[in-house]
Amino acid sequence: MGRFLKPDLKIESIYDIDPEMLKINGIKGLLFDIDNTLEEYATKVPGKKVSDFLRKLYDLGFKIGIVSNAKPERAAEFVAGFPKDDYPNVFFVGKAGKPLKRGFAEISDIMGIDLKYLAMVGDQLFTDILGGNRSGCFSILVNPINIKIEPGFVRFKRFFEKPFL
Ligand SMILES: [Mg+2]
Repeated sequence: MGRFLKPDLKIESIYDIDPEMLKINGIKGLLFDIDNTLEEYATKVPGKKVSDFLRKLYDLGFKIGIVSNAKPERAAEFVAGFPKDDYPNVFFVGKAGKPLKRGFAEISDIMGIDLKYLAMVGDQLFTDILGGNRSGCFSILVNPINIKIEPGFVRFKRFFEKPFL
């Protein structure tokens, strides 16, 4: 399992994503975790900085998807918070069951992009990176935005991530 815990890329935050590098690697769509990747834990809707950045990625030719282990209602509420009007469609799967493969298979279907052309961006090794790698996606690990307000079970997992980081 060890090799599946190694991200293809490690960056500080989503804002360090290099669109050119991803294009060179054949990536056509970006998948994001919500909590501590796009926004702080339990933030209900995306802020302007996140919205603008995803819009920019879309304008550069990437489709955008959300793969969250949160309840579907929570994921739906977050996605509904992107600006209306001409904002591009953000695809999502809630209760994705990361690191299981099914949520990744589902979003790949919805987006119409083969898994090997998708990059998973997330802050947790045992869910985002492990699930992305097992599914054949390019995997990108970011530092969690703020771990001080996470629930206990997430902190518990982080303790076990340490030897792999
Ligand atoms: Mg997270």
